[in-house]
Amino acid sequence: MATDCLFCKIVRGDIPATRVAENDHCLAFRDISPKAPTHVLVIPRQHVTSLNQVESATLAGEVLLMAAAIARSEGIAESGYRVVFNTNGDGGQTVFHLHAHLMGGRAMHWPPA
Ligand code: 5GP
Ligand code: ZN
Repeated sequence: MATDCLFCKIVRGDIPATRVAENDHCLAFRDISPKAPTHVLVIPRQHVTSLNQVESATLAGEVLLMAAAIARSEGIAESGYRVVFNTNGDGGQTVFHLHAHLMGGRAMHWPPA
């Protein structure tokens, strides 16, 4: 846990979030500023700064499996969706606790800006 990390505070319940799923490894909650009809963030409970620091295939896999499960529960698995890990400056990362953006409910553009 990083005491001053926003998403660690959400894991601890110090900051409210609209949770959509959780298990022993991960937590998922709605993005506070959604950019698509479904915009959910999936994070590991453990503080990992970015994809560059991921050392566990289990952790990476649990995040992806939860994203796919939420795509199903949100009803966008068949229509389609996007899972994105923004990483560091050029990747557009603004919160430095690993998170997968699960976005769907509309057609996504390619390439992203
Ligand atoms: P990044 O830019 O790091 O890839 O994504 C961070 C995401 O976290 C952004 O989409 C932003 O809207 C979201 N976010 C920032 N602060 C909060 C918050 O306090 N609560 C929630 N639910 N989402 C947040
Ligand atoms: Zn954290």
